[in-house]
Amino acid sequence: MYSNSLIELDRAHLIHPVASYRSHEKHGVRVLTSAKGATVTDASGKQLIDGFAGLWCVNAGYGHDSIVEAAARQMRELPYATAYFGLGSEPAIRLASELADRAPGDLNHVYFTLGGSDAVDSTVRFIRYYWNARGRPERDQFISVEQGYHGSSTVGAGLTALPAFHAGFGLPFDWQHKIPSHYAYRNPVGDSPQAIIEASLTALKSKIEAIGPDRVAAFYVEPIQGSGGVLVPPKGWLRAMREFCREHDILFVADEVITGFGRTGPLFACSEEEVVPDLMTTAKGLTSGYVPMGAVFMADHVYETIADGAGATAIGHGFTYSAHPVSAAVGLEVLKLYENGLLDNGVKAGKRLMQGLESLRDHPLVGDVRGRGMLAAIELVVDKVNRTPLPASAEPARRIFDRAWENGLVIRAFANGVLGYAPPLCCTETEIDAIVDRTRLTLDETL
Ligand code: PLP
Repeated sequence: MYSNSLIELDRAHLIHPVASYRSHEKHGVRVLTSAKGATVTDASGKQLIDGFAGLWCVNAGYGHDSIVEAAARQMRELPYATAYFGLGSEPAIRLASELADRAPGDLNHVYFTLGGSDAVDSTVRFIRYYWNARGRPERDQFISVEQGYHGSSTVGAGLTALPAFHAGFGLPFDWQHKIPSHYAYRNPVGDSPQAIIEASLTALKSKIEAIGPDRVAAFYVEPIQGSGGVLVPPKGWLRAMREFCREHDILFVADEVITGFGRTGPLFACSEEEVVPDLMTTAKGLTSGYVPMGAVFMADHVYETIADGAGATAIGHGFTYSAHPVSAAVGLEVLKLYENGLLDNGVKAGKRLMQGLESLRDHPLVGDVRGRGMLAAIELVVDKVNRTPLPASAEPARRIFDRAWENGLVIRAFANGVLGYAPPLCCTETEIDAIVDRTRLTLDETL
């Protein structure tokens, strides 16, 4: 049984991220107590398949002894070392080097953060520094994509296009601009890949002209938009946008916080289109969620420009926990797991997941199925012919989430009727099939 006192303590003291505090107080917390592989157990002893890998992060699955050992070993030897004052620790240096070896192109320089939001935030600061160092301080405007999510730090939230991250805050984001998403299912230009790519290029071009061609510092994309509802761009979109930015001397930033570390198949989604961004952000799968860590990858020319610009002056950007040795030790161990079968299993399981979710297209509630690898979504509609969306409200989403939970499945139920899937890459075929079967059961009960 759930402990009532724990629910009361939570209600009284714990502020939850991205939540209506009042609804949360009404519904109370669900407490997880343990987990193994792709299965989580709640405080009542109920076991569920985690179809969302926590928050798209536990890519390796739960309860890996080798990860726990790596963290424990590092904690015993050296639980903390600052990377300030010219100091460092072996795991952080080794992890930076291993990551640079595997990153696309010349993304050879790694700056460690605590997660994704501060990785994105760091890029904004680095990019401003870069343009100042190039003697172009007027390049201070940033462009990102509608329905994009880039975290909720004070600056980085400006790049996030989801309304809840702006409404009520009143923070000034006049340096921030958006172009429409490539979202194929509801795109005014239709769902032809070529038309979508051309529409995005045209939108970016006119946005740059409207802002002023010499004012734009950078363009941010997610290789697949995650929190916007798992929106997969057509093949060629990422490359076309990257090339366009190169031609216009605008820095191209790929936010791989969700897509990185095998979520879509390879280690980085950018490599699927041989795209080399100027900067790349990662987190989540970097440590498989076992401990917090994010990383900014910088191409040679960005690093060199910033370094030369500063000369002997310190670049005032850093956190106490940058390059944390315990997180780095975990990152090194997780990287080994990826390369010793986890990525391959993710590719196999991802194919099965996509096939399984495709089989739900016959369901009266399912309007769209989309995804790549172990990152997927189904979009529920009231009427399939007219693609009428479910009422945009948290309540239907909560009901579906609750039903799925009863059926032994954790999914992400977005308020717009999209169900998100990002299971651990270690899932077996049986677990993938159970995710699909339990989804169908949940949809039948929702009808
Ligand atoms: N960027 C993207 C693409 C994300 O999906 C997220 C989180 O989901 C973030 C940034 C923010 O990362 P974090 O929640 O670790 O701060």
